[in-house]
Amino acid sequence: MKIAIDGPAGAGKSTVAKAIAAKLHMNYLDTGAMYRATAYAMIEEGIEPADAAKVVPALSKLDMAICYENGLQKVLVNGVDVTPYIRTSRISKGASDIAVIPEVRLKLVDIQREVANQYDIVMDGRDIGTYVLPDADKKYFITASAHERARRRCEEIRQSGQEADIDVIEREIVARDKTDSNREFAPLKQAEDAILVDTTDMDKERVIDWIIGDITGVES
Ligand code: C5P
Repeated sequence: MKIAIDGPAGAGKSTVAKAIAAKLHMNYLDTGAMYRATAYAMIEEGIEPADAAKVVPALSKLDMAICYENGLQKVLVNGVDVTPYIRTSRISKGASDIAVIPEVRLKLVDIQREVANQYDIVMDGRDIGTYVLPDADKKYFITASAHERARRRCEEIRQSGQEADIDVIEREIVARDKTDSNREFAPLKQAEDAILVDTTDMDKERVIDWIIGDITGVES
């Protein structure tokens, strides 16, 4: 069983995908974390993620592995767990910039397909239904208005005790959507056979219940 969940930044894909994987006893792969880890590794080497001429040769030295600890995904780069360092806005932008480079995508997609061959999987990203797993059993495209996505992200940051400016966050989200949708290779796009779920006016429990009901055919 393969389930593809795509959508723009901050739509709540990973929360929904994680919950669905747990409820259906499947594995979960957050592919965004892999682009983030690649951007992080390049920045650590002093390479700008948008600089394809430097990123591409450095890719051969980058060994990425995915592992799970207590059900949580970790991304290892050259044996080091980089998961704690990849959630900053610098890395969000870096991930979006590096994800434009076809050689980066091909390397990460190989790993993603390998994981999908080993397990029943719920995978979230931007190109899962269109490119990584075109034969997925179920495909969902989860979205929400840019303002609502920024509002949710802002709330998350404030709950962690930090300050957040909703206008800045909304601008970052819109910029990332633009880069992700306009790149040439495997852009952010709803697959023709994906179900669109607009969560602007839905809370996450309702989204999760609706998708579980759609997958299992059992309404909760
Ligand atoms: O989902 P998340 O926000 O963590 O993704 C970070 C960035 O990685 C996205 O903005 C996008 O550019 C890139 N990405 C991608 N394809 C995927 C997953 C993420 O291009 N399948």
